[in-house]
Amino acid sequence: MRLISFLLLALGGLAAAHAAEEDVEADTTAVASGDTCCAVLKVYFGDKLSDQGSATYNESLATYWSAQEEQIYPTCIVRPTSAMDVSKALRFLVPLSCKFAIRAGGFGTVPGIANIKGGVTIDLRGLNDVALNSDNITVNVGSGAAWGAVYSQLQTSNLTVAGARAGSVGVGGSTLGGGLGDFAPKAGFAADQVIAFQVVLANGDIVTASATQNIALYKALKGGSSNLGIVTRLTFKTFPIENIWGGTILYNKTTIDAHAQALYDFASNPSYDANAGYLLSFIYNPSFGTILASRLAYAEPTENPPVFQAITAIPNQLQNSTQITNVAAFSNLSLSFSADGYRQDNWDLTFENNVVWYKSLYGLFQNSISSLKGVENVTWAFTLEPIVPAILAQSQATGGNILGLDNLTLPGLALGVFSATWQDPAKDKQVYDASDKFLQKVTDVAKKAKVLQLYVDVNYAGRKQNPIASFGMPNVAFLKQAAKQVDPNGVFQKLVPGGFKL
Ligand SMILES: Cc1cc2nc3c(=O)[nH]c(=O)nc-3n(C[C@H](O)[C@H](O)[C@H](O)COP(=O)(O)OP(=O)(O)OC[C@H]3O[C@@H](n4cnc5c(N)ncnc54)[C@H](O)[C@@H]3O)c2cc1C
Repeated sequence: MRLISFLLLALGGLAAAHAAEEDVEADTTAVASGDTCCAVLKVYFGDKLSDQGSATYNESLATYWSAQEEQIYPTCIVRPTSAMDVSKALRFLVPLSCKFAIRAGGFGTVPGIANIKGGVTIDLRGLNDVALNSDNITVNVGSGAAWGAVYSQLQTSNLTVAGARAGSVGVGGSTLGGGLGDFAPKAGFAADQVIAFQVVLANGDIVTASATQNIALYKALKGGSSNLGIVTRLTFKTFPIENIWGGTILYNKTTIDAHAQALYDFASNPSYDANAGYLLSFIYNPSFGTILASRLAYAEPTENPPVFQAITAIPNQLQNSTQITNVAAFSNLSLSFSADGYRQDNWDLTFENNVVWYKSLYGLFQNSISSLKGVENVTWAFTLEPIVPAILAQSQATGGNILGLDNLTLPGLALGVFSATWQDPAKDKQVYDASDKFLQKVTDVAKKAKVLQLYVDVNYAGRKQNPIASFGMPNVAFLKQAAKQVDPNGVFQKLVPGGFKL
């Protein structure tokens, strides 16, 4: 009976949905079943709604990055192709208190971050237009686009945006979580480069958030992830770029001391070269043991520029892929030490840039490997990514964000990103336990060494972390206030359980 009345509501179209919205406050405690929610949505969305077992449903699941996300089965997947579609979806889902998930690129690794068992998953990949505006400076990007499409399209005009390193990562999730890429020292976090967000609010309204409209929402979206609304389009400011130089050099692990020093010197250089982006990784796999990797990126076609020469001079190199290339091709080079569709786990912490600490961290990494016995084809990696004052200067120049990294001075910070990849679901508990133990150990030792910082990056945060709290109390208070203004019933916390919540 309830289903029939919901269907009648849907058949009555949006007018009825509007009426329901006016009459009934979103009651987020009485949740409609996934079947009911999908039946209602089907009336409006037709072929844009995929039922379990259909080809489009299976394609959507198969394109998540992590196997754990692929194995969560929503009752249906809705695939909007316009902001109006997203608005209509919310106008149906919210009054019925339907549980839903928001998915863009699907690269989040925490199970359930962008998918929902027995609910409705909104797959935004149909919102994937990339269009350079007539000013030849700004670009409109659908939130479901992948970064590779942005880089390819802008390259024809010798422009780019500093987004995620891997071309297949989604623009939506990565930008709303901050977004640190190779060229962040030139332009800031991906979120800092957004001059306007088109957002669908919980009540279905489609609004613009920019420096002049919905100003609090604009700032809150620069790090606030899925807590405020569904972003459908982002307008980025681009910057000029032609060819670049970069690649990855693999080294024997015996060179760790030289790398620790080189990383420290790179990040603490008072005349930092803003063209340069650098990552240092420790990588373990049972087939090759532990190796070290330096990923180097330079925003000019200059071979081995002076800023990297201390790193490229480190001996005992096993492989070197550095080359002159372009941003789109670079984003397609394999940079990840994990593979698409494998089981994944991530977490991150931030440290003071400190050479003694890097050596000690490497020791903790090596000690943690013993807990992986019997996990076949596991890849266990830890990446250090400098957060230099040049990045934060860009954030400030563009009006600031809510990440809480405002007062950074030399010697700077390093974001530490842990990732594990494995294949056998039977080993989940062992790998999760090992990952949790390693996180605890690194936290404890870093605290003792007085190098641990508050900041946890949303984009790599782990199952047990709370990156939003790491923005600091004033930013959390700002975010809560901004969320309350646009979503007084807390729809994006109560009906969207996945993701990092306020
Ligand atoms: C191989 C690889 C490389 C990576 N490289 C980088 C990198 O260089 N820099 C970096 O910062 N991060 C990087 N990441 C991390 C990546 O930024 C995060 O995983 C990010 O969440 C991915 O965004 P997505 O849209 O693909 O993910 P999704 O899993 O689709 O979404 C992630 C979260 O954002 C929410 N969300 C997505 N779109 C919207 C929207 N339009 N409106 C509201 N909420 C939304 C989702 O609900 C979910 O909570 C990388 C990850 C991988 C696996």
